Amino acid sequence: MSGDFKTPSQVTFAPLDPPSRLLMGPGPSLTPPRVLGALAAPTIGHLDPRFLELMDEIQVMLRRVFGTANALTFPVSGTGSAGMEACMANVLEAGDRVVVAKNGIFGGRMADIAERLGCSVALVESDFGEGIDPEAVATALAASDTKLLAFVHAETSTGVLQEVAPLAKLAREAGALCLVDCVTSLGGIPVELDAWGVDLAYAGTQKCLSCPPGLAPVSFSERAVEVLKTRRSKVASWYLDASMLLNYWGGKRAYHHTAPINMLYALRESLIVVLEEGLSAVHGRHMKSHRALVAGLEAMGLSLPVAPALRMPQLNVVTIPEGVEDAAVRGALLRDYDIEIGGGLGPLAGKVWRIGLMGHTARAKNVSALLAALETTLGGLGANIQRGAALPAAHAALAD
Ligand SMILES: *Cc1c(COP(=O)(O)O)cnc(C)c1O
Repeated sequence: MSGDFKTPSQVTFAPLDPPSRLLMGPGPSLTPPRVLGALAAPTIGHLDPRFLELMDEIQVMLRRVFGTANALTFPVSGTGSAGMEACMANVLEAGDRVVVAKNGIFGGRMADIAERLGCSVALVESDFGEGIDPEAVATALAASDTKLLAFVHAETSTGVLQEVAPLAKLAREAGALCLVDCVTSLGGIPVELDAWGVDLAYAGTQKCLSCPPGLAPVSFSERAVEVLKTRRSKVASWYLDASMLLNYWGGKRAYHHTAPINMLYALRESLIVVLEEGLSAVHGRHMKSHRALVAGLEAMGLSLPVAPALRMPQLNVVTIPEGVEDAAVRGALLRDYDIEIGGGLGPLAGKVWRIGLMGHTARAKNVSALLAALETTLGGLGANIQRGAALPAAHAALAD
């Protein structure tokens, strides 16, 4: 091993020159130039009076997109998973019982975090590609005193959208808090924390908000804040302790950790971009792009395994046709067309592709570019697909 870590006498790395990709995977999504421009604005201090104003603006806009009046709504420094960990660590204590309704990879991650916090986890599992069964959740909640029900709104690993309000109601009736993963939903489809009765939610910046990865917006209801305030033990994570973070994001503006200033500029800009277009227009654009993509894929002869009623617009799971090799297609799309799509996760690896239409990516021209590239690639590999039908079908769906 010695010698592997020698310091070179001269530093001669090539200038940074990332390829220009069309990001149509499960995130990150394309970032609008305005947001990238915000990243490059001059760094100021994290206690600068102007920065404190920017923080207030970010919080106001986050409440809008989350559909909440929750005072404790702010971005955690870290990616979506840090938001997941923050929500759980702040309300859970060792010995608490947690019900995790799991129908994909990210529900599994929630269960893992709860276990690491010393909680007992009751899993309510559905098959990948299925929704969560409310009756099974009700049974699990009734079995024993439960502190928290946790599940994913938009399961990026399966493309399944979960209706939130009925499960949140079950949690409330059982006296449990309700935690929802909104990483892939926020900014792509309606999120209404208050109307749904959700107590804790987290998201990420690099999916439908179209900002680079690095921040995790979170929101805590008054009930969740009450649970935080009446804990017996300290929050297990110093960095993610919301009672201390509240002192920075709330009134006192006390130093906790140095906020990632430029990332917060970018988040602010991305929220402005979303709210200027208008939430319902943004959601409509996602839905329209999704309909065009599905029409094109189906006209080509490809199939989508998720039942139409359970599909989300921003992440489309497509079955890899018989005899076609996953890596060959994704490799060709990247190499020949600069297009990134995602592969399957967990039990779906090698069986499906995941095509993202998230945020800035969700546009007709990107759908057309992908359909054309995919058709040529699959045709070139000798796959049994219908040629020449995808683009007309997509355009007809757009005109509808
Ligand atoms: C991407 C994702 C996460 C994890 O977010 P990171 O930013 O990768 O940490 C969690 N949940 C869902 C549903 C996601 O799609």
